[in-house]
Formats: sequence, structure tokens, C-alpha cells
Amino acid sequence: MPSRSSPSRNETLRTPGALIEHGLARPDDRAALERVAQDYATAIPPTFLHLIERPDDPIGLQVIPSPDELEMAPYEREDPIGDDALSPVPGIVHRYADRALLKPLLICPLYCRFCFRREHVGPDGGLLDEAALERALEWLRSHEAIREVILTGGDPLMLSPRRLGYILRELENIEHITTVRIHSRVPLAAPERITDDLMDAMELERQAMWLVVHANHEREFTETGRAALRRIVRRGIPVLGQSVLLRGVNDSVSALEGLFRAMVENRMKPYYLHQLDPAPGTSRFYVPITEGRRLLAGLRGRVTGLAWPTYVLDIPGGHGKVPLGPDYLETEKRTVSDPSGKRHTLLPPDTHSGN
Ligand SMILES: *Cc1c(COP(=O)(O)O)cnc(C)c1O
Ligand code: SF4
Repeated sequence: MPSRSSPSRNETLRTPGALIEHGLARPDDRAALERVAQDYATAIPPTFLHLIERPDDPIGLQVIPSPDELEMAPYEREDPIGDDALSPVPGIVHRYADRALLKPLLICPLYCRFCFRREHVGPDGGLLDEAALERALEWLRSHEAIREVILTGGDPLMLSPRRLGYILRELENIEHITTVRIHSRVPLAAPERITDDLMDAMELERQAMWLVVHANHEREFTETGRAALRRIVRRGIPVLGQSVLLRGVNDSVSALEGLFRAMVENRMKPYYLHQLDPAPGTSRFYVPITEGRRLLAGLRGRVTGLAWPTYVLDIPGGHGKVPLGPDYLETEKRTVSDPSGKRHTLLPPDTHSGN
């Protein structure tokens, strides 16, 4: 029998006290972490807790709050990608003509310390109530250009199977919507939630369902996580991977290679590698774009093409996502670089058409 004071490894850690008790934070930092906790939620679920070897390892850094979060760099913004300005009704974000985000809740299985919505996500509230959900659905019904709905949040797979099923059935009744995408960390962070009931709820008749799983390090691919991914793929749901380029987590060619190989080997196609959004108190994770391009160039030719994501920047202010390269074509379009950096003349020469 463990003594009463010995910390349990099967709970989700949420408070500075629990972090200190588990040796994940220094007692000296308690006051600063209490201040961090006033603004930003913390949750470290058992799956991730078991993976942390040191607080500053690639798993610990992602989920353990730091006093650094109280410091805002001059370029950081509370709404880094302009979501608030693009929200026509609560729960909807609309930036592109053919697709919109639907955020039914703001709860996540864990709270990433670099989250671009960190001001908003958390365990209290944020669940769209009946009236707000109905207004969001009504907005989707009345905008016939919307073909794809992206369920995000928060993490939509934190909804009960019943609630998720209800929302998906409502979306299925909207004729112009052909595709539903879910963004989630649950399959690797809380794989026990990927139950038959949840997957029954995700089964769509008429629309295509795509799942985009957020993962930043190969160590996140535990046995139970891999099994959850297998169960999802068996249901005929294609799985994509999305990651954020993070200092200390995956800022080396070998870390990115390990991450993207783990994805491919678990039937997950790397989709986006995101440049960090400038959310408040996240500067310790910042990797410059020039360095990100160099890291990706280091992967080219070294890993299967299946393992190559698009490196993207969500232009601060709500201007949309754009690929950041690396580029292989010379601007004047007469030469192209190979994966080792050697230049080759294009045949036939692809000269400027002039404009
Ligand atoms: C990221 C994002 C999307 C999805 O963009 P894709 O490039 O299709 O993955 C859609 N709407 C908003 C508001 C977004 O921020
Ligand atoms: S899972 Fe997504 S929404 Fe939730 S804290 Fe992490 S980055 Fe933010």
C-alpha cells in the first residue's frame, strides 16, 4: 500500500501543489506558478505524466507551466491569429470561403504551454450551451459556400460520445457540408477515450471524416496511443498529423525525423508543421523561420516523402496560413537545388514569362 502522501501516478495533475509534489516544479516557484494558474490552465494526464523523465525534456516542456509564462515578449499578442475578429457568432471562426471552424468546447486533455488559444482554453466553461450551439449550426446552415467544418476547440474528442454524435448528426443534415475534420490530441494524450462508443459517434454516412492528431515528439506514441490510432484507422477514418516547431521539444533534424517517422509508421500522414504563433508568454519555445527551413531541408532526401509536412505560418493578425518552404527553385528559375544543396540547371530553362 502506498502511503497517503505518496503521489498517485494515475491522476491528472492540475495545480502548482500537485506539480511540486510530483517533483515537476520547484517549491521556490510556487508563488509564480499560482499567478500563471490565474491566467492559464494546466492538465497533465497520466499518459503524459508517465512519459516525463525530467521537467525539461520534450514531454515535460510541453505541459509543465513555467514562471516564464508571466513575461510577454513585445511581439506577442493575446489573439495571435485574429480568431476573435473572425468570429461571426460564438463558436464559429470564418476566414476562408469554403470552410469554417466550429469550437463546441474549450476543454483539452492537456494544456500545451505554447497554445495559440491559451487565453481561452481551460476546464471551466467554454462549452457551447444549447442556444449558442443552435446559433452556430444555424450560421453554418445559412452559409452555403461552406463545404468543410473543422471541429476544434478545445478538443472535440473530450466531448461525450452522445454530445459529439449529436453535433455530427446535425452537421450531416446540412446538405452543402461534404467534409468534417476533427483536430485532437486525445488519441495520444488520452487514448482511453477512444472507445467504441466514441467511434460509433464519429461514423458518418454521407460526409467524409478526417482526423488531424496533434503530436510533437515521437515519445508521445505510446503502446496505448498506437492502439487507439489503429482502432480509428480501422473505422475508415484517415488520420493526419500536425505539429508545432518548438525549442527544446523537436528543434533538431533527428527529433523531427523521429516524429514524422512515428507518424508514418502509425498510418498518420504529416500534414502541417506550424511555426509557433506569438501567444503571450511562449517565447521560450520560439524557433526562427530560417532555422525551421534549415531543419526541414535536412530532412529532404533523408526520410520518405510520406514523412514530409508542409511548414506553415499563420500570419499574425488573421491573414491566413502560408507555406514557408524551404524552396528548391532559384528565384530566376534557371536552377534547382537537390536535397544535398547542389545546384542543377533546369532543362528546358524555365525562363520568366515576364510581368
Ligand atoms: C487553420 C484554419 C483553417 C484550416 O486551414 P487549412 O489550411 O485548410 O488546414 C480554417 N479556418 C481557420 C480560421 C483556420 O485558422
Ligand atoms: S490541445 Fe490544442 S487547443 Fe488544447 S491546449 Fe493544446 S494546442 Fe491548445
